[in-house]
Amino acid sequence: MQYKLDKPVHGEIGVGRYQCSIEWRNGNFICDEPPIEGGADKGPDPFTLLLSAVASCALVTLRMYIDHEGWHIPSIAVNTNLYQETKEGNTTTIIDCDILFLSPVSEEQKVHLLEIATNCAITKLLEGDVKTRTFVFRDGDTKNIHYANDEITVVWKPEFCQHSTRCWTQLPEVFDPKVRKWINPEGASSERIDRQVKKCPSGALEIFYNEKKD
Ligand code: SF4
Repeated sequence: MQYKLDKPVHGEIGVGRYQCSIEWRNGNFICDEPPIEGGADKGPDPFTLLLSAVASCALVTLRMYIDHEGWHIPSIAVNTNLYQETKEGNTTTIIDCDILFLSPVSEEQKVHLLEIATNCAITKLLEGDVKTRTFVFRDGDTKNIHYANDEITVVWKPEFCQHSTRCWTQLPEVFDPKVRKWINPEGASSERIDRQVKKCPSGALEIFYNEKKD
């Protein structure tokens, strides 16, 4: 299992309503809620961010295809919006994506480009099988089990483990839930194990460097 982003999107909120600081791999921006929801509208709200993802992915995909074909279509615009319908207790979300070519485009090209935009990565993702998993980081005193090599000790707190699968899918040389002693600290370098332990979302893994014996 490999994450799409090397660096996760990181968000933080304080007591101000409701500005969140969102950090991405090359900068940060503010996300907020509109006044009707109690915010100050200092940045895009989560629905706007979702629709921005649809719009930008469609535009980038179209630009790539147009450039590949060598067509002269200098400017394209996209409007995205959504509405929701509830029938018999089930809510369906409909996202509309309207493409406007701001320069002459033949009907044949439009048919091709509509198909290309419909298959952009974000649209396919939203129409596919999407699951959201939420974890909470815990720390505190609980039963823990130690796995050590000469240099490091990995501590596992089974009560805190939320079975995210992150450790054993990303570093199977060290974490293998199929064997009894499931953490093998000899399986990778200490630095690599350290990096992986820090990705545990639940606080179930900790690492410390052993005191050197003379
Ligand atoms: S990464 Fe942490 S929470 Fe996920 S399976 Fe491993 S120990 Fe458990």
